[in-house]
Amino acid sequence: MLAHSCATLVLGAQLGDEGKGKLVDVLSEHADLVCRVQGGNNAGHTIWVRGEKIVTHLLPSGILRQNCEVAIGAGVVVDPLVLVDEMQKLSAKGVDLRAERFHIDLRAHVILPYHKKLDMQRELSRSKSGTAIGTTGRGIGPCYASKAYREGPRMADLLSEEAFDRVLKQNPHIEEDLDSETKKTLLSIGTNLQGHLKDVSTIVNNRLETGARVLLEGAQGAMLDVSFGTYPYVTSSNLIAGSCAGGLGIPPWRIRSITGVVKAYATRVGNGPFPGEISGTLETRLREIGNEFGSTTGRPRRVGWLDLVALRYIGRVNGLTGLAVMKSDVLCGFDSVGVVVAYRDKRNGEVMQGWPMTVTAWENIDPVIEFCEGWENVVEQSGAFDPNFKKFLNIVEDQCRIPVIYVSTGPERAEGVWLKNPSDMIV
Ligand code: IMP
Ligand code: MG
Repeated sequence: MLAHSCATLVLGAQLGDEGKGKLVDVLSEHADLVCRVQGGNNAGHTIWVRGEKIVTHLLPSGILRQNCEVAIGAGVVVDPLVLVDEMQKLSAKGVDLRAERFHIDLRAHVILPYHKKLDMQRELSRSKSGTAIGTTGRGIGPCYASKAYREGPRMADLLSEEAFDRVLKQNPHIEEDLDSETKKTLLSIGTNLQGHLKDVSTIVNNRLETGARVLLEGAQGAMLDVSFGTYPYVTSSNLIAGSCAGGLGIPPWRIRSITGVVKAYATRVGNGPFPGEISGTLETRLREIGNEFGSTTGRPRRVGWLDLVALRYIGRVNGLTGLAVMKSDVLCGFDSVGVVVAYRDKRNGEVMQGWPMTVTAWENIDPVIEFCEGWENVVEQSGAFDPNFKKFLNIVEDQCRIPVIYVSTGPERAEGVWLKNPSDMIV
């Protein structure tokens, strides 16, 4: 399923929560190593195994497959307290978390209580002016800001008090905000994680050179990319394909296929532009059937129609070689299903060219929505796709010029149809 000596990238092609966790878990069966490359515990990856719901925030979704190793790359921001909690919960379920199997890059930046506090303070002041981002409040943005300021500690600094003290002494405002109890806890976590803390870049490059099949697991979705998303309503890391090799420390040419994961509809958690947004009874129905509540914060997700304008743009920026369409079963029984095919400018009624670059441009979008007939079942008794669903897939492929390679038909691992082998997707 995956090619040897190659990295296969799976990334969110909407606004996060597309179902990457499930797809990565399914593909992990064929992988030797699964790696997270950016983001932190703002992510929430939901995987269903034999009726049991398992959510990971920091650990790569491949963790549930005994056959593969997992890694957290240098581009990830790690909250050590959350990591340890997640490791304990998974260990209790019998998941193997030995240091031979689970690697964390020494260079990954550490989320401190200071970052979480700052995240909440900033969000509070923004909400007073009506411009809250809707952050998950996990300290992600401030931690990346500390990295850019060159002030924050990295996981390597938790390995010795001397190293940690050195960072703190150089940055008194961080030291001031760290009580001695928390400092002690962080250092003891560093000691406990010693076996896991490694040069992940070197490990992955070595493994690739000796034929390993590596899966890169993006977090969030490309429309939340800090440069290319719906700025400023974005997360604080680069998520697009071109930056994923950088988050791990491997050459970009190792990435052989780039699968964009989309839901058959769209969701957004947090504030910001959402041209295909649905309101009213249909909104409630879609949210309930799709169980669209944040896996990290529990917030109700906003729901809408699949945005093909955005998907065309995301397809190009990321060079998507294939699409995985998730949760098509959620739309079963809907009379009609919409897709956004163009953005019209409310101010002059004309179709907008190019990607909206300002908040004002986004506010003036009047989406052009086309409707196709709904489907009763995704797959018919004969094993073929329902003709209406097939038409829907054809519209997506025609508009985006990206082949659909996988259709998920339910939450469980076995519920899905492969249309092409992802490792053949090089274009
Ligand atoms: P932050 O990354 O916590 O600062 O949140 C910034 C924006 O990205 C908010 O709108 C969040 O709801 C959204 N976001 C962050 N991580 C995820 C995710 O994993 N899935 C969906 N939305 C996310
Ligand atoms: Mg999620």
